[in-house]
Amino acid sequence: MITILLGAPGVGKGTQAALAAESHGYTHMSTGELLRQEVAESTELGKSADTYMSRGDLVPDDIMVKMVAGRISSFPNEKVLLLDGFPRTIAQAAALEEACTSGAIGLSLYFTAPEAVLTDRLLSRGRQDDTLEVITHRLGVYAKTTEPLVKYYSDQGLLREINSDRAVDDIQADVLATVSGALNQSNIA
Ligand code: AMP
Repeated sequence: MITILLGAPGVGKGTQAALAAESHGYTHMSTGELLRQEVAESTELGKSADTYMSRGDLVPDDIMVKMVAGRISSFPNEKVLLLDGFPRTIAQAAALEEACTSGAIGLSLYFTAPEAVLTDRLLSRGRQDDTLEVITHRLGVYAKTTEPLVKYYSDQGLLREINSDRAVDDIQADVLATVSGALNQSNIA
């Protein structure tokens, strides 16, 4: 079962996915992490992605789809794949549906927190693309290009909102309960 983690930069998707992966053996796939590895290894993909990432822009869809599709198509349906940071555009969402088997996407967790909380968290994280200027740009890109996915998955009946303006453990309990509920549903279906 593919679980899509949606929500603005800084909302805690990566933290929550890593915790759930560790305690429950879920697979956590972060496209941001995969890209940062490519950048660190100075691969061709990394070199072209770096320009976009350091500005806070999205890496073009064709590059992202190529990177993700192969990894996803072979994922066993009875296991849980937490997709962190993908899709980020409607075009990526459509490509994801083509790449995986029908019904494989079982859930989208939508993490929410006030924008001031997001900015504070991002500034304290101190990643290379976490300067105030780039953060502001990334939040704008998110609102314009990624936020439409909330309606997209809500229309498909897959969206569950997670209030992320809470303690990490409380959010995690909510995440685990929601994933296991969806997993039960998908096993029954
Ligand atoms: P993240 O670690 O998820 O915040 O991603 C860091 C950066 O990687 C983003 O600001 C984008 O430049 C790039 N990135 C990650 N995932 C995607 C994606 N699905 N589509 C386009 N760009 C992405």
